[in-house]
Amino acid sequence: MSCLDNRLKVLGSSGKLYTCYSSCHFCTCPAFGFTVLQKSESLLCKHILAVYLSQAMGACQELTVSEEQLTNILLAEEEEEA
Ligand SMILES: [Zn+2]
Repeated sequence: MSCLDNRLKVLGSSGKLYTCYSSCHFCTCPAFGFTVLQKSESLLCKHILAVYLSQAMGACQELTVSEEQLTNILLAEEEEEA
């Protein structure tokens, strides 16, 4: 598996541009490093989620999701795995 596959740029809410590697589940943002890698509190950051959502919809369209919607999606995923 190559980490160079499926590399997408995701524009974060702070205006920073992050690089997400959906094929190996990695993102360059601080949230991924802290909540996912260090604390294992989350399985993915919102940028990777956005990449997965765009792929699931069959297109790399610009996807606008509010923070509230993202929270609901993340919580729903955690409940499924519990
Ligand atoms: Zn990220």
